Amino acid sequence: MNHSPQVKDDPRRGIPSVDQLSRQLGAEFPALPAWAVTFAVREILKEIRNSFESGALDPKASAGLGQRAAHLARLLAAPKPQRVINATGVVLHTNLGRAPLAAAAVEAATRAGEAYSDLELDLGDGRRGDRQAAVTQKITALTGAASALVVNNNAAAVLLAVNTLALGREVIVSRGELVEIGGSFRVPDILARAGVRLVEVGTTNRTHLRDYAQAIGPDTGCILKVHPSNFEQRGFVTDVSLQELSGLARECELPLVEDLGSATLIDLRDRGLPQESFAAESLRRGADLVCFSGDKLLGGPQAGIAIGREDLVRDLRRNPLARVLRIDKLSLAALDATLAILLEGRGEQDIPALARLLEPEEVTESRARALAAAIEKAVGDRLAVSVRRESGAVGGGSLPEFSLQSFVVALEAEEGANALSDAFRSAPVPILARVRDGAVWLDVRTLLDGDAEEIESTLVRYIQRSSD
Ligand SMILES: *Cc1c(COP(=O)(O)O)cnc(C)c1O
Repeated sequence: MNHSPQVKDDPRRGIPSVDQLSRQLGAEFPALPAWAVTFAVREILKEIRNSFESGALDPKASAGLGQRAAHLARLLAAPKPQRVINATGVVLHTNLGRAPLAAAAVEAATRAGEAYSDLELDLGDGRRGDRQAAVTQKITALTGAASALVVNNNAAAVLLAVNTLALGREVIVSRGELVEIGGSFRVPDILARAGVRLVEVGTTNRTHLRDYAQAIGPDTGCILKVHPSNFEQRGFVTDVSLQELSGLARECELPLVEDLGSATLIDLRDRGLPQESFAAESLRRGADLVCFSGDKLLGGPQAGIAIGREDLVRDLRRNPLARVLRIDKLSLAALDATLAILLEGRGEQDIPALARLLEPEEVTESRARALAAAIEKAVGDRLAVSVRRESGAVGGGSLPEFSLQSFVVALEAEEGANALSDAFRSAPVPILARVRDGAVWLDVRTLLDGDAEEIESTLVRYIQRSSD
């Protein structure tokens, strides 16, 4: 053995064993689950050993070992996804889980999950039943569509539609609609994987009906119209309306599919929403099949919905990919309950996304003033609090041209807006807000029940800690 002084001073000798450190942390933080502590300790010790082996014999590498392991264990043990407070004002925020579910939808998902259910059983005759029958009936009742189908998400609905109608054949799409929608949904890539050939027509800014007409041939499977979602063109722009396209499609006996993305199942025109956000309107304008998401304007769980012609929907249902892309029972239960709320005419009251979206300005303003007053009372000596009028976005690629009036509570702290925003984000219930003009902006439009109280107590704790 080599007992050179170098080896004796080897800082590796100071590294505790996994067992030792795990026991120590377990005693210090009894609330942390043992599996997370052990996993975290292994990770941190491995890191330290690696840094020694790579020649960085930094004796400080093992400093704060316990702290680091405890922090990692806490991250590991935290539920994911966990509740956060959306103070961004973006009603359908993809990074924040899009639409929060109605209470009845949550209950329905819980019931479907905690016990056996008649998911694929017909209780009338005890035979195998269709898991979709109830939701598709409700969707056709809401929209007047001849038929409906539900899958895992809208990307799946579009994939299934083009694969069913045009496998090995051509799908015609305007160049102005070959968009990427946040989170890796790119129209050309989806079409390629669906096994269809994309035929691009028109130009980026202008596509005419004759462009479509010239592209139609014996190999055309369908025409696809894509809602550009959060992408907007201005200026020298022309596109072909659904009505015009449907005339051409009918003449050539081709199915016309629309990827509408975000849609409601109730007509909210009189509430200021554009007509084309109502899914049934696309059918009225001549689409044969319309696809949209369950968790955008609809306000339900993740799901993809296709409505339209009975023969086409039947073909989609018979495609083996329908099984691959099927919706799970928890989402199905939540969707069923959401649809029931819409049928009862209680969407605006009971579906949080619709309630947030349609809340009258004066109600939003009074909520902002109440929150500002509560904050002022609690910590007004340490923060400058003001209420501002602001316009926000709906989000989730929904209603890009629809600007939403909202009210924000702006907070200015001595330590700066970024420090406060970081503290908000690392609170036990993380609060997501915007930083603008040196202030943290809490947009009250997207606050749900109980959020205001949580914000207030987070601020009280923050102020206490920063004065310690
Ligand atoms: C959001 C969106 C999609 C993807 O829908 P998911 O439900 O997220 O799969 C597809 N097309 C359009 C136009 C969209 O807006």
